[in-house]
Formats: sequence, C-alpha cells, structure tokens
Amino acid sequence: MIAERGGEQVLLVDDNPTNLQVLFKTLEGSGYRLLAARDGEAALKIARKAKPSLILLDVMMPGIDGFQVCEALKGDPETEDIAIIFLSALTDSQSKVHGLALGGVDYIAKPFQSDEVLARVRTHIKIHRLERALAARNVELEDENLSILNAVEEGIIGLDEEGRVSSINRQALALIAWPESDVLGEPLKSLNLFAASEPVSAGIEALINEGVPLRRGFVDLHPRHSSKPIPVSLSGAPRQGGAVLVWRDVREWLSSQEALRTAREELESQRQHLAHIERLSTGGEMAAGIAHEVNQPLTAVVNYARVCQRLLTAPAGLDTAKIHDVLEKITTQAERASAVIQRMRTFVKKPVGGRQILNVNELLAEVVALAEVDSRTHGVEIHFSSQSISHPIQADEVQIQQVALNLLRNAIEASAANESIKGVRLDTFESGVLVGFSVTDWGKGLDPEIEKQLFAPFVSSKEGGMGIGLSVSQSIIQAHGGDISYRANPEGGAIFTCEFPAHQD
Ligand code: ADP
Repeated sequence: MIAERGGEQVLLVDDNPTNLQVLFKTLEGSGYRLLAARDGEAALKIARKAKPSLILLDVMMPGIDGFQVCEALKGDPETEDIAIIFLSALTDSQSKVHGLALGGVDYIAKPFQSDEVLARVRTHIKIHRLERALAARNVELEDENLSILNAVEEGIIGLDEEGRVSSINRQALALIAWPESDVLGEPLKSLNLFAASEPVSAGIEALINEGVPLRRGFVDLHPRHSSKPIPVSLSGAPRQGGAVLVWRDVREWLSSQEALRTAREELESQRQHLAHIERLSTGGEMAAGIAHEVNQPLTAVVNYARVCQRLLTAPAGLDTAKIHDVLEKITTQAERASAVIQRMRTFVKKPVGGRQILNVNELLAEVVALAEVDSRTHGVEIHFSSQSISHPIQADEVQIQQVALNLLRNAIEASAANESIKGVRLDTFESGVLVGFSVTDWGKGLDPEIEKQLFAPFVSSKEGGMGIGLSVSQSIIQAHGGDISYRANPEGGAIFTCEFPAHQD
C-alpha cells in the first residue's frame, strides 16, 4: 500500500506492477491520497477498510477479476458509493457495457494516456464529491422538512399512489396512537381511522385515486384501541405521486365554542333579568297613576251601583230597562279597570321567552293604552299615527312594548313642564327591509351632558331617575338585530327612532 498525505483517497488496482507504477506516477502530486492493490482480494480488503472515493480497477486479474470486485463493492451498502473506473485492454463494447452495468462510472482502455487518466479521475472525484454533498444536503433537507412537519399543530400524513402511508408527523402519530413502525408503508384504510364515516372514506379514496381534493370538514377520527372518536377538521390535497391529508384536533376549539355559547346565554339571561327589573321599576313609577286610573272606573261602579239600588226600591215600581242599562254601565267600567290592571300585569310579568311574529301597529296600540296613565297625569296627549305596514317583525312582544313605553314616558315627561305643548307623536314606518317606529316630542330637548353619554347606563337628569331606561332599550333593540337612535327635533325637542329587520316569510 502506497499513500500520499491529504485529499481524497484513490485506490489503484492492477496485477501488473509496471502498470501500477505508471498509474502511481500519473496521479502522484495531484493532491490525492493514493492506495494500491495487486489483486482483487487485496482491493476488496483495502476498499472496505479505507473507503476511497474512487478506484481505478484493472479488469483482467488472476483470481477475483475487476468485474467481480466491482460487483462485491456495489453489493455492500458500506462501499456501494465508491466510484469505479475500469482499466482494461478489452475494448469490445460488450465488456464496457458489462462494466458500466455493474455500476462502474467509466472505462479507460489500455494502454492509457496519463493525461486522460488524470482528467477522468479528476472529473469523477469531483462528481463523487458533489454527489456526497448533495446526499448530505438531502438528508439535511429531509431533517428540516421533518422538523417543520413536527413543529406544526396539524397532523400530516403523506400517502403514496396506492394509499399507503409514506410519511407521518409527530402530531398525527400522537393522535392516532399507532406506533410509527406499524403505520409506515401500511394502507391508510387498514388503520380504520375514518372507517365509521362512509363519505369520508369515499372522499379519501377519490383523493388517492382521482386526485379530487378533500374539502375541509369536521369528522370523527378513531384512534387505535379507543372507542371514543376525536373530532378533527380534515382536508386533503393531491401531490406528486400520492396525496397528503391534514387534520387538526378541534376538541379545544369545540369546547371554547361551547363556553362562548354558555357565556352568551348567560349574558342574554342577565339582559332579560335587567329588562325585567326595569319594567318592575317602571311599574312602580306608574303605580300612582295606575291607582288613579283604576280608581275612576271603580268610583263610577260604586255610583252606578247606588243608582241601581235606588231604582230597585223606586215607589213607581221596577224600571227593568233602566236597571239593565245601569248594570251595563257597571260592567263597562269594571272591565275598564280590569283592562288597566291586566295590561300592567302583562307588562311587569317575567318574560315567557321566545319571539313571535308581530304587527308593529297592534303592538304599539297596546303601549299607547298603557301610556295613557302618564298622558293624563301630565296633561300631554299621545298622537299615534300608524302607517299601513306590510311586514311583521319577529320579536318579544313585552320587551318591544317596554322600549316604546320608555320612550313615550320620557317624551311626555320632557313635555310636561311646558303647558303650551299639546302632545307627543308616535309614528310607525316601513322603509325597504326595515320596519320601525319613532317617538317625537317638542319638549325641553336633551341636556348636552346627557347627550354625550346617551344609552349609557345610570345616566339621568331626573331626581330619583334610575337612568337605565335608554340603556336597557338599546340592549333590547340590538338583541333583536335592530337599532335605536336619537336626533334633535329641528322644531325643538327630541326624536327617538327604533328600527328592526322586517320578517320575511
Ligand atoms: P331615566 O328616565 O330614568 O332618567 P333614561 O335612560 O330613560 O333614564 O333617560 C336618561 C336621560 O335621558 C333622562 O334622564 C333625560 O335626561 C334624557 N332623556 C331621555 N329622553 C328624553 C327626551 N325625550 N327629552 C329630553 N331628555 C330625554
């Protein structure tokens, strides 16, 4: 064995010492570390031990010939990468083809030219070096790829064109609970991950066989040995030589959706509760007026009853027609008192929940009757002008009445201080897909400080005012998908408008 220091190793193999010498001379000083062997066996031994980059291999040798050496080296993963250039006096093309078929990279005919040998060795060493660099880079890229795939939250499975698992990242493995060795190379179908869903299985088949992308959707994934499926969002796309499936565990997302839904329900129930408290408070404020309102028919009932008594004891005898007439009046008055109480009871009762299809005009007629109490107390008339409205709204009746009553009572109160004001207006309207109503007054108008925080809770200019009427009204209207707004009345006073999406059948 002859060697030079540094550089790539080149093994020279020839049974003829002169040839070996010439080869040595040719390559000496070219920067390669030279090794030499005089027969096939020695060549194999050195090659296995030193793993040179290249072997210049004589074909015709006693014992193991060059072709056999090449075959042995190519059959061993440890030495298969060594580049082999055959040297031979056999110039027939069959030998060349045979040599190349065995894995040789080149073939130099003997007698050889030193320049040619050097040039070819240089070229092949260079190619060999580049190939190694490329292989190393490939390994690096694969590592990089794997670390990217492992870094993402999604489970990713690569499938070959037969539907077998060709790659799988850590997240996917963790979810399906199969060991990697049992998964790689296996048909995805055999893992029974989506077997419970016929459409998903069919979708995956279509992806693998026809390249039809699998659209994202929620499906149940069945991990190994588990009866409890895991909800995942699954999608799939075709790729060169197969397909890729991507899924994301949506358990956390679903439970946060659930928490959000519970929070919304909680909020809605709080809102309903607050609205109820506000109605009770309105009822309390109206109690004196209601008592007065009920008192009037009751007084009339008492008076008519006395008339009846007198008629029953009249010396001229019974005038049944007259008695009948008076009893009729008693009934009317009693019904009037009952209607006031009934209306108030409906208004302050706890919400039954649920929305109905309602006609805005009918709904507001009831509110006007309720507000009559304040109207009479303050001497401010309500002018209700209802437009013909072709679409209903879908709403909670009592809550919308609550909003309208709030606005009417505020308007009446704002007008009450000024005796020259004769009344307030309540108008209904329909415009495009919106249905609504507005309350207009010509009262003192909005205090600028109040206007800045209008609809905020606990904002009031009234002594003892709770200041939650407008804020509750706004939350009710918004919960109905509508809007409440204020604008100054150009003639002085305020205009509040509520609008809702019309209910389309
Ligand atoms: P409250 O009536 O208990 O004060 P609201 O939320 O209904 O609570 O009203 C808040 C404030 O808005 C009132 O105190 C009043 O100053 C003002 N406001 C509401 N409506 C009118 C109106 N039509 N004209 C003038 N001011 C109004």
